[in-house]
Amino acid sequence: MVLSDLGRRINAAVTDLTRSQNLDEKAFESMLKELCNALVSADVNIRLVQQLRKSIKAKVDFKNLPPTTNANSKKRLIQQAVFDHLVDLVDPHAEPYKPKKGRSNVIMFVGLQGAGKTTTCTKLARHYAQRGFKACLVCADTFRAGAYDQLKQNATKAKIPYYGSLTQTDPSIVAAEGVARFKKEKFEIIIVDTSGRHRQEADLFAEMEQVQSAIKPDQTIMVLDGTIGQAAESQSSAFKSTANFGAIIITKTDGGAAGGGAISAVAATHTPIIFLGTGEHMLDLERFAPKPFISKLLG
Ligand code: GDP
Repeated sequence: MVLSDLGRRINAAVTDLTRSQNLDEKAFESMLKELCNALVSADVNIRLVQQLRKSIKAKVDFKNLPPTTNANSKKRLIQQAVFDHLVDLVDPHAEPYKPKKGRSNVIMFVGLQGAGKTTTCTKLARHYAQRGFKACLVCADTFRAGAYDQLKQNATKAKIPYYGSLTQTDPSIVAAEGVARFKKEKFEIIIVDTSGRHRQEADLFAEMEQVQSAIKPDQTIMVLDGTIGQAAESQSSAFKSTANFGAIIITKTDGGAAGGGAISAVAATHTPIIFLGTGEHMLDLERFAPKPFISKLLG
């Protein structure tokens, strides 16, 4: 189910309720049930959905509404409670790192192979370059043949300076060299792309820790494929316990995926989503903020 379908179903559930002649507790319960079904079929973790149901019920507190409450007030109360709790679902109430001008901000990317790291690195470098930051890219993926070439091509197209090596096989050495060089040249945004591999494996996590301690990033961002459904939660938890990333970028939100898995990843790691990847092109990057996202979802 695509995210817009989810929005439509949630909307339909609330509209059905507010149109019903008898805005009674039974109608409220059936709206809640439809809302929860929609979230579960969009891959939002079932535990989170149950919590959401409980909190909306407690907030509305249908049984204890003053008898004088008219249908319109009930409607507004329910709509507001649904909105607030959906916002809560994607809002971990944690502030992401904000790069500052006039100093070097080192940003390290982590995530599984194919998640969209290399593509997103360039998108983000371009984003900052457009906002007046001196931005560059470092390729510390020495594992995948062709990784450096891909980054080089993207960076060249986006006119972003880059660093990498075809001969050095130790990713922490390449990362440290690249960061040191760009710091010396007073770059303000230094984005380091790392290797992903296919699975979460001990080698990958060990490498991530080595690169992290070699470059001491100001921010670590996890790139999460928005199409992976329920697996997003365990994947992001595993990365969180090793790389302790401070922000998430969800990619491929333009596809047919439900996206609920990614929403659950936020809750599991208490980490904010900062951007959404919305396509394969350089400009396909949208800033993420909980309230506008839910407003848009609800149409
Ligand atoms: P990496 O292995 O994590 O570095 O992943 P890549 O950056 O190579 O991306 C893997 C594939 O996903 C490529 O074909 C990208 O074009 C594609 N991709 C990345 N981000 C997006 C996105 O937001 N939307 C779509 N549709 N495709 C994306």
